Amino acid sequence: MRIRSLIILSMVGAAALIGTVGGVAVFTQMAATKYLGLTEATNVARELADTIVFKPSDGMPSLLERPEALNQFLELQHGRSQRDFVVVDRNKVIVAHAADEEHKAGDKFEHDPGNEVGQTLEDGIPRKFVDPEEVNAILAVPIEQGGKTIVGAVLLEYDAVLNAAEQRTNSMLWLIGLSAVAAMLVAALFAWVLLSRFGSGLRDMMRGMQALAQGNQMMRISHGRKDEFGQLADGFNTMADQLASARAHIEDIVETVAEGIAVLDAHGRIASANPAAATMVGRRADKIVGLQWDAALKLHDARGGDFAGGTSPVEMALATGRQHQGEVRLTRSDGSQVPVIASCSPLSRSEGGLVLTLNDISELRRAEGVVNERADQLAVLNRELHEKSETTTRLVKLGELLQACVTFPEAFSVVGTAMTEFLGGLSGSVHLTSASRNLVEEMAHWGDVRSSVNQFAPEDCWALRRGQEHVAGPGMLTPRCAHITENGKKGYVCMPLAAQGETLGILHLCEPNAAEKPQWLAERQQILRGVVDTLALALANLRLRETLRQQSIRDPNTGLFNRRYLEETSSRELRRMERSAQPLAIIMLDVDHFKQFNDTFGHEAGDLVLKQVAATLIEHARDSDVVSRYGGEEFALVMPGASLEEGAQRAETLRQAIKQLHLAHRGRTLGTVTASFGVAAYPEHGAGWAELTNAADHAQYDAKAEGRDRVVVARNNVPGERPAIQLVPPAKAGAEAKG
Ligand code: GH3
Ligand code: MG
Ligand code: MG
Repeated sequence: MRIRSLIILSMVGAAALIGTVGGVAVFTQMAATKYLGLTEATNVARELADTIVFKPSDGMPSLLERPEALNQFLELQHGRSQRDFVVVDRNKVIVAHAADEEHKAGDKFEHDPGNEVGQTLEDGIPRKFVDPEEVNAILAVPIEQGGKTIVGAVLLEYDAVLNAAEQRTNSMLWLIGLSAVAAMLVAALFAWVLLSRFGSGLRDMMRGMQALAQGNQMMRISHGRKDEFGQLADGFNTMADQLASARAHIEDIVETVAEGIAVLDAHGRIASANPAAATMVGRRADKIVGLQWDAALKLHDARGGDFAGGTSPVEMALATGRQHQGEVRLTRSDGSQVPVIASCSPLSRSEGGLVLTLNDISELRRAEGVVNERADQLAVLNRELHEKSETTTRLVKLGELLQACVTFPEAFSVVGTAMTEFLGGLSGSVHLTSASRNLVEEMAHWGDVRSSVNQFAPEDCWALRRGQEHVAGPGMLTPRCAHITENGKKGYVCMPLAAQGETLGILHLCEPNAAEKPQWLAERQQILRGVVDTLALALANLRLRETLRQQSIRDPNTGLFNRRYLEETSSRELRRMERSAQPLAIIMLDVDHFKQFNDTFGHEAGDLVLKQVAATLIEHARDSDVVSRYGGEEFALVMPGASLEEGAQRAETLRQAIKQLHLAHRGRTLGTVTASFGVAAYPEHGAGWAELTNAADHAQYDAKAEGRDRVVVARNNVPGERPAIQLVPPAKAGAEAKG
């Protein structure tokens, strides 16, 4: 029910209630008045009846017994109360009456239609009735003699009281009726005024609300009212202002935000799209509004493939009414694809639809790509670093091993075992150039494949010729080295082993199936270089060490061992012979008149003589003999295992061989060279080195003293006695020595 009807109904209802309550009150009052009038009339009638039958003490008869007096009395009462009175006897015959022309004394009272008077005379109960002729209300009250015997009845008209009461009641009813009507009129008037004000206020409000609901943000309610509707209108206007400002804010945000925002209706049509969404799609915003979403937004899955039917976030959100989000690729109008996060949030409006947000993550993906690339690079660097560190560690180990080697064979044994592991299982070899520099010889080999000959000339290897790494194999234009054995698929590398400015030889590495493994060398290049450098340095060091050692134990002019080496070795040999109970002979010799020789031909010629003498000594020595230059033009020979006699024979052989030397220097013949020999031996001349050399030395002095160019055997411990040794001819002695 509308408010207007309610107000009207309530006002009319209130007025009707007032009227009803007033009416009920009046009618109740009237009933009470009637009752009071009847009671009063009954009391008056009873008093009258009592007065009528009263007998004074002076013996006077009662008024009933005196009709004249009774009439006067009734007239008097009538005058006083303006009521009509009739008194009847026991037989209902009128005895007296007042102011009623209809009744006559002596007549029977017949105006009671129901014989009410007769009944009252019978039972003594007062009754009321209406005289049908006079239309008066009459009350009949019995007259009782002595309180027991009914002797008559008083009939009394009580209309006057009742009428007065009725008149009052009627006037009150009128008053109430009129008041109720007036109240209803006033209520209707107020209702009209109220409703007209209420209605206009409500109309304004409703107009405003409807305009707002239809999106008219500029709608304001104009009014000049100071009532509640005025306040409501002010509130509405303030709310509309705030709404407009909030909407302007939101519109600003939506227009300027970087995310693409599109609103889709429940059928999937694009209801609105912000500029960012249009830019992402590559079309104008007004061109895509109204289109079905998939006509404007070509979405693919994160990898650029098609979505299986109904599985794109938009379709899922439209179908389920729940939020869906995912990474997709948006195809622009020019065909390029942009990675975006598509968020679909269903609208809570009853008509459905959703808000689609598109967040361009190209930059993120690009940055991710860069980060991944960097991470990959870092991983590669890390791996390389790790490999380098491992390579370095292994190279350091190889270097340590090689440095620990004292001889070339040791070093080559290390190379032979270590290289297979170092060079990833490939076969190879190390070749060194000989001291004469005309031959390159294999010193070490590893692996199953032999791809180079053992010996070749330096010019057979391109690496040695050019002094740099040489690679050849299938598909390469570089020539093959001549020392390489044939195999069409084979790839190989020769790397010069160069250190301290000298090329020592090559390291050769072979891949039998280079055609199938084009990366075989690149994979090992780094470690190969390291190995070559380490190996070259180690070999150069060994060579240097060997040279130094040789220099420290040999005499540079003659190439013979020096005295220090002789003493070291010979003492050791002497101990060995002692342990194995074998003899040891020692020969000391000194070139005769060498000073003179020097003086005559010069020092250079003297050096040549010393060289020739040394060569003669070497020529006649056995491998186990130690031939040394003992001093200026003095030499010593230690012969382990040789007896004193064998020593003396050898000395004799040497003496004759030296004497037969034909010496020439710068075209000049130098003449004959002789030397004097002293021979001693273990055990004949002692067990110590000093004793033996001393003995041999003395024998050699003796040889000088006895005329030079001779062999003298050291004296025995008994002074003056020499062992008797028959010296054999030189040819025989030389043959023995060689044997
Ligand atoms: P003797 O027969 O008594 O041994 O006479 P000698 O002249 O050989 O002996 P001496 O000790 O008087 O002279 C040795 C000479 O040897 C002196 C020195 O000039 C010479 N000499 C020593 N070492 C060398 C060398 O390495 N080269 C040359 N050319 N001469 C040397
Ligand atoms: Mg000398
Ligand atoms: Mg001499």
